[in-house]
Amino acid sequence: MQLSGQPVLILPEGTQRVVGRDAQRVNIMVARAVANAVKSTLGPKGMDKMLVDELGDIVVTNDGATILEEMNVEHPAAKMMVEIAKTQDKEVGDGTTTAVVIAGELLGKAEELLDKKIHPTVIIKGYRMAAEKAVELLDGIAMDVKPDDEETLKKLAITSMTGKGVEEAREKLAEIVVKAVKQVAETENGKTIIDTDYIKIEKKQGGDLEDTELINGIIIDKERVHPGMPRVVKDAKIALINAPIEVKETETDAEIRITSPEQLQAFLDQEEKMLREMVDKIKASGANVVFCQKGIDDLAQHFLAKEGILAVRRVKKSDMEKLAKATGATIVTSIKDLSEKDLGYAGKVEERKISGENMVFVENCKDPKAVTILVRGGTEHVVDEAERALNDAIGVVSSAMEDGKIVTGGGSPEVALALKLRDYAKTVGGREQLAIEAFANALEIIPTTLAESAGMDPIDTLVELRAKQEKEKNPHLGIDVFEGKIADMKEGNVLEPMRVKKQAISSASEAAEMILRIDDIIAASKKSSGSENNMPGGEEFD
Ligand code: ADP
Ligand code: MG
Repeated sequence: MQLSGQPVLILPEGTQRVVGRDAQRVNIMVARAVANAVKSTLGPKGMDKMLVDELGDIVVTNDGATILEEMNVEHPAAKMMVEIAKTQDKEVGDGTTTAVVIAGELLGKAEELLDKKIHPTVIIKGYRMAAEKAVELLDGIAMDVKPDDEETLKKLAITSMTGKGVEEAREKLAEIVVKAVKQVAETENGKTIIDTDYIKIEKKQGGDLEDTELINGIIIDKERVHPGMPRVVKDAKIALINAPIEVKETETDAEIRITSPEQLQAFLDQEEKMLREMVDKIKASGANVVFCQKGIDDLAQHFLAKEGILAVRRVKKSDMEKLAKATGATIVTSIKDLSEKDLGYAGKVEERKISGENMVFVENCKDPKAVTILVRGGTEHVVDEAERALNDAIGVVSSAMEDGKIVTGGGSPEVALALKLRDYAKTVGGREQLAIEAFANALEIIPTTLAESAGMDPIDTLVELRAKQEKEKNPHLGIDVFEGKIADMKEGNVLEPMRVKKQAISSASEAAEMILRIDDIIAASKKSSGSENNMPGGEEFD
């Protein structure tokens, strides 16, 4: 029945609304566009992207998470895709491109099912079942790795860094990463726990990637406060102080009236005495190195220098925490409370000039639970890309050590899972069967993309790979991108932690489900731009 008169408006004027199938179509299109933007970077033969921001700064990278972050996407569906990359990066540190590409493909396959009039709820249910099954099946094809199996851990690190612009130094970098992760690993109730925050990456342009080194301790990007302090301290006893080594500024409302020179002198003497006491207290604790989170008064600097104590001021909170982990020191918040038992130890503390800048090295710590990787490289781009590659490798080695489970790469697990999922689909039957099969097909985007990047025919290669895996009952067969042929990835040492795949599959499927569930996009009208700059009366003089 038609009501006469005015139409009823329930939304403000200018609101844009897209409903039903159109809403799904738009969201799917956008999400797939995001996936396509990173797809060509997948694998060692993947291409790099050059990103230029508003200021003209350039980033050249192969790292999915970085590309998506720099793209500054606007559409909500695109933002959901970026979220997948971020989650993956946080949970595992590697596999960001994989996760996004799988999500894009899941949505592509869903579109085909929607065109066949299969209801989104059915697709969502099928995808959910398939994702759960896939994660369970992964356990079946995974292999064990022991936390002390350095050879295998190195192979994992190398796989994650292959094709990342650090090629020539990846052996060395892999060794550094494995050492660093093992150094900060701790055991709790028989379980290995790794907090990768305690591996500090310090970048200094200059030198060569091969000059990158692992410091058994922490590098602080600061210099000692006074040139009269020693540049090197051996057998360092380190105090970490989170309090100013200054006389507190008088409160703003308390005014001191000084009327005679004697009074001024007395005031200054008093200040000097207090600073002297602080330095004496530090000296009495036995410390010969001080890292202070706050400021150090000029006079106090002078006293410290005279005592032969090396001091650094305004050290970042995060660095203080790392110093505590590395040296075994306790951070004290009051100098009065400082005593010998709060001090940490380092074999050597030294101020060194790296590429023209002074840095303080706290090294040769005893079994430090925090370490630093000092990254060197010819240009800023090289050091930045090396840092990203190292972060991936650190994530991969820690995931493998924590879980003790790895799989082969090169698209091998995706094909193995797809084969098993198709069998599973048959046991489910009904319309969900179609969705589970679509899920299986979507996973195979990984081997197809890798094949394509290696110049192989993607369809023919996939068909051959499926047949070979089935015939030889070998789930480790994948794409050798360098030789352009199908090969055993275990023999080729292409290894990845199981967590990379598990996380990629579950977050890709969650994001696809979330996007499919939306059938109504209600967007508020954009405020006309520039209006906030047109303040009334805000005219400028000239
Ligand atoms: P992501 O951001 O998903 O980690 P990458 O560009 O690092 O993307 O590519 C990862 C993919 O490349 C994985 O599927 C991995 O198995 C594969 N891969 C890595 N090294 C090799 C290799 N030497 N041969 C074949 N595939 C490889
Ligand atoms: Mg990777």
